[in-house]
Amino acid sequence: METQQTMRLYLLHLGTMQPGDIPVPAYLIQTTDGINILIDTGWPRSFVEAPRNPPGLAVEIRPEDTVVARLAAIGLQPADIDYLVCTHLDDDYSGNHDLFAGAECIIQRHHYEVAKGGHPRFAANRAAWDHPSLRYRLVEGDSELVPGVNLLETSGHVPGHQSVLVHLPQTGGVLLAADAIMHQSMADAATRQMYITDMDDERSIRQSTRKLSDIANREGVAFVVYGHDAQQWPSLQHSPLFYE
Ligand SMILES: [Zn+2]
Repeated sequence: METQQTMRLYLLHLGTMQPGDIPVPAYLIQTTDGINILIDTGWPRSFVEAPRNPPGLAVEIRPEDTVVARLAAIGLQPADIDYLVCTHLDDDYSGNHDLFAGAECIIQRHHYEVAKGGHPRFAANRAAWDHPSLRYRLVEGDSELVPGVNLLETSGHVPGHQSVLVHLPQTGGVLLAADAIMHQSMADAATRQMYITDMDDERSIRQSTRKLSDIANREGVAFVVYGHDAQQWPSLQHSPLFYE
């Protein structure tokens, strides 16, 4: 007999990029069994004091926007995190991985090998994501992390990017696209163009976009969370509120 599972999804607001009020998100999933799954860690926490603004971008991170502050606001410390899922190691997703030595880091093998091999795109936060205290589990393709949480390989934005599908008992399915689909306007595979920050070719980008929209349809997901959608983000419930 199956017991009723509960599951919570928190959307963590880790700052804003200007111009355009572009959100920097991370996510926390809590399971019935008390397993805490953090997905991504945002820009480096040093940006609160000293932002390192890439050309044309102003990164705004208030003290309450750091991943540690967001976790503390719901009663958690970095040591409470069991799994750190890395969608990818871009600057705005991997800046605080070094705080999670107690967690098992879950990443696509292909992505890890490209970054570890020294690709300059992933160099800025290397001290954080390649910290010697971190333990990585390399996964290949789609897999189930724990019951109700699926990792989906979605190369295109970068090689070995991964997205996450979570099945919530009341809300239903929620698809965390991360940078596989940064904005709703990029959600249609037929018209999806290469974006300035996309690293792979158009074919793989469209393939992953189609894969996610097929899964969203097949699973009848309640909603897709896009990676950096300034229109969608304010319409969603942010931590300390949660979806369940
Ligand atoms: Zn990215």
